[in-house]
Amino acid sequence: MEIDQHPYADILRKEMMPNIWCSGCRIGRIKNTFIETIQQLGYDPDKCTVVSGIGCSSRIAGYLNLDTIHSTHGRAIPTALGVKLANPELKVSVMGGDGDILGIGGNHFLALGRHGQDINVFCMNNFGYSMTGFQHGPTTPFGARTITTSSGNPYTPVNPVAVAMAAGYTFVARSTSAHPYHLIDCMVSAMKNRGPSFIEILVPCILYERRNKIKSLEALFLDKAKIKETLSQEDIDQSDFMKRISLGIFRDDPIRQMPQLSLVKSTKKGAAGKFDIKYKSRASGIKYMQIRMEGTGGQGIVQGGKVMIKAAMNMDPKLNSTLTKRYGPEMKGGSCLTDVLLSSQHVDYPFVELPDLLLMMSDLVAKERGGKVIINDQGTIVVDESMVDLGLLEKLPKTVKVFKIPATQIARENFRVVVANNVLMGFVCKTTSIIDKNCFKAAIVKSAPPGTEELNLSAFESGYKYRKS
Ligand code: SF4
Repeated sequence: MEIDQHPYADILRKEMMPNIWCSGCRIGRIKNTFIETIQQLGYDPDKCTVVSGIGCSSRIAGYLNLDTIHSTHGRAIPTALGVKLANPELKVSVMGGDGDILGIGGNHFLALGRHGQDINVFCMNNFGYSMTGFQHGPTTPFGARTITTSSGNPYTPVNPVAVAMAAGYTFVARSTSAHPYHLIDCMVSAMKNRGPSFIEILVPCILYERRNKIKSLEALFLDKAKIKETLSQEDIDQSDFMKRISLGIFRDDPIRQMPQLSLVKSTKKGAAGKFDIKYKSRASGIKYMQIRMEGTGGQGIVQGGKVMIKAAMNMDPKLNSTLTKRYGPEMKGGSCLTDVLLSSQHVDYPFVELPDLLLMMSDLVAKERGGKVIINDQGTIVVDESMVDLGLLEKLPKTVKVFKIPATQIARENFRVVVANNVLMGFVCKTTSIIDKNCFKAAIVKSAPPGTEELNLSAFESGYKYRKS
């Protein structure tokens, strides 16, 4: 049969064939069961994403004609989490081996169960690190020979199903490569479950077979495995596949009500009410805005970014927003910048490339770039003129609007220097009119350490009222 005529042809990257797996390896079959699952469910392949780490099993991502990421060792789950947060509509699956998911990425595996995002983890358990010649890993059976345990593994293996149950995965199942129809049923149920799903898939590796003088693990799986409708604690606990293998669905909980992870929430109105700050939320009309705050560690640059984002979301809670930050290695006293994105659409890349609004509290970042100030030609810069060499702004196009305030000097002379960022915020509010004043004030009240709310609000007011004399 020509590869184009194959029923899975649309979901295979034909240009990547033939695959690199050893003949006799069953990982390809797992790839096929996944394709079959997507087809049975009628999912749009454009809405299915696969993320993998490193290892033989992780190679699957390269052969699937979907949006896939072949990430770094052990980091498939956090990468998948980033994909899911950026676009919650996607069906996101992690495919990889026991060494990658349970060994190097073990802590991410635990965290996903606890955090509860709707991501499927399909873990091919071949009992060791096969791609590098078969070193022992977390699931290597006690006594098994590998190149790093030539006299037999002295460690008790991890039981993947038991760990997934304890970590809080809402769907947990076990199957094998020798039971493809059972595996498809498990994958269908896992994909439908709206929380974190986990399937342990036992897969033979010929390196393990050779070293442990087992003729065919697949035949052993067929001989020892029982598919069960009802599974007991004993079925979870059993981990010696040489004796007995219980297959089935150990847990399939209905959707767990989880708060969605969002970086910043709008302020609770009650908190602002104590300071008699009232605001109304409204459609802001903001479609996509890139905001950057630059300065020196210790100037409240990240805090300033948080205030901006909270203020924007107080005004328009329907906005999507992200905040990222970067410090130089020195932290305090070194360069620091915060990127804020505000968007009416999902944000798929959280970094600012060309700011529409740049707040400069010091010139350290620009000087580290060789004096270059990065701003959209139609953008706006609000600058703390007591801290920035204004000569850096001379080469900017005339279309860039520049507003100047000696924010640090005002803060030092009237309040405390640490509130200079909120002096600048008041001035930003007044000069740019992007975000309503009371939305800003409510965000400041929420962000200020307890007992300093009045101080920070006064600093904001002084920036708002500032006029160059
Ligand atoms: S080393 Fe083992 S797991 Fe890797 S491709 Fe070969 S048989 Fe498969």
